[in-house]
Amino acid sequence: MLEFYNTLNKKIESFTPRVNNSVGLYTCGPTVYNYAHIGNLRTYVFEDILKRVLQYNGYTVNHVMNITDVGHLTDDADQGEDKMEKGAQREGKTAWDIAALYTASFQSDIQTLNILPPTIWCKATDHIPEQIAQVQTLIDKGLTYETSDGIYFDTTKISDYGKLARLHEQELKAGARVEIREKKNPHDFALWKWSPRADSGQAPRQMEWNAFGRKGFPGWHIECSAMSIKYLGEQFDIHCGGIDHIPVHHTNEIAQAESVTGKKPWVNYWLHGEHLVIEDNSEARTNVKMAKSGDNFITLQTLIEHNIEPLSYRYFLLQAHYRKQLQFSWEALEAAQTGLKNLKKEIQKLPPTLEKEMENTAEAEFLEAINDDLNIPAALAIVWSHTKTKKISQKTVEHWDEIFGLDLLGGSNASAEPLTISPEIQKLLDLRLIARAEKKWEESDRLREEIGKAGYTVDVVNGEQIIKKK
Ligand code: AMP
Ligand code: ZN
Repeated sequence: MLEFYNTLNKKIESFTPRVNNSVGLYTCGPTVYNYAHIGNLRTYVFEDILKRVLQYNGYTVNHVMNITDVGHLTDDADQGEDKMEKGAQREGKTAWDIAALYTASFQSDIQTLNILPPTIWCKATDHIPEQIAQVQTLIDKGLTYETSDGIYFDTTKISDYGKLARLHEQELKAGARVEIREKKNPHDFALWKWSPRADSGQAPRQMEWNAFGRKGFPGWHIECSAMSIKYLGEQFDIHCGGIDHIPVHHTNEIAQAESVTGKKPWVNYWLHGEHLVIEDNSEARTNVKMAKSGDNFITLQTLIEHNIEPLSYRYFLLQAHYRKQLQFSWEALEAAQTGLKNLKKEIQKLPPTLEKEMENTAEAEFLEAINDDLNIPAALAIVWSHTKTKKISQKTVEHWDEIFGLDLLGGSNASAEPLTISPEIQKLLDLRLIARAEKKWEESDRLREEIGKAGYTVDVVNGEQIIKKK
């Protein structure tokens, strides 16, 4: 029996999909104003394991992942600047170029980490009409009000606002303070924001659309309600993200989606991954969440520069349960790299096959572990113990590696190869992406040729830039 911890009901529950053997899965994707850091990637590895476990259990997974390329402000409570426009100013590029560049970089990172791509990628900027339609429905239902900076959702108009995060209980405990300004209630949030007026003295926005009588852009949460409903239907099975999404982003997605459709529950199972934390630079050396805005930002490329292979990082992540905080340290990563190397060596000594009956007990133990709220550390311990006693075959390890994605029978970490490219080649790849985004095909072909001369082939498959050594 497959069981997960469901944040919505705060308990372990057995999993039953809405429709037979197929599962609708929505995972909140990256905000593409910078590189993903290895904390972000922890969340995507956890979601990848979830998908692999569902598939191992015989389910077909319809997996949708969004790309947030507009609307996420620097403060989750709808204040500050738009992260995309800020990224554009930082790098002297257009917001559209920034989005293209970091989307491609993210897709390359997940490929390198053996994370299976979603069935559908969807960008917020490609789904503006769907978002406007949902905001209009909420206006028509009388659930919104206008302020000088946008259209807001009135959270007091629905009786169960905040149920995912138990916001009501938390406030009683902590007396949470939220900036109100023109909002009627602390938790009200923006559905649609106005662009600055021409006479405001503020820089004009690059990404804006005409709607509701003015120029503006979507709030952060509406994209996920609009795109998940478009691709997975008004009710679906599983929705995931990191735990930081529980009190604001996912809480607001639920409020919007259930109000638009009138159907509850919108999603049956909510799964959240704990954070990767790192010691801060203060004297106290406290653990803080790795964050894109912080000075503790480590990317996959940084790991490679420290001779840590991407799949060693994956192995490091799999040694911790997804609902436990995990502390980053170089020593722990080096130990994981050695551990994975040793495990692969031991696996080489196993017999290629064994009588099926001899391995039945091991298979049952393995299935019990992965189905017990994705207990991957226990599943890895099972591989180690049966490998040491030679009670399993290489064939079984290969089958189990469909869950781990660690290339346990491979000689080397082949998928690390695309990232060993030099900064010069990376620059050409970035320029080519920008040329493509601007539909400058001749420039794009010229850059491909130049990349080719340096010994690489580059192709775009489903919007993803795939780089290989010739
Ligand atoms: P973002 O690109 O900032 O929208 O974040 C992408 C994903 O990474 C979200 O699911 C976040 O919850 C998750 N995330 C952010 N920081 C961390 C961290 N330090 N550890 C694990 N996941 C994180
Ligand atoms: Zn989302």
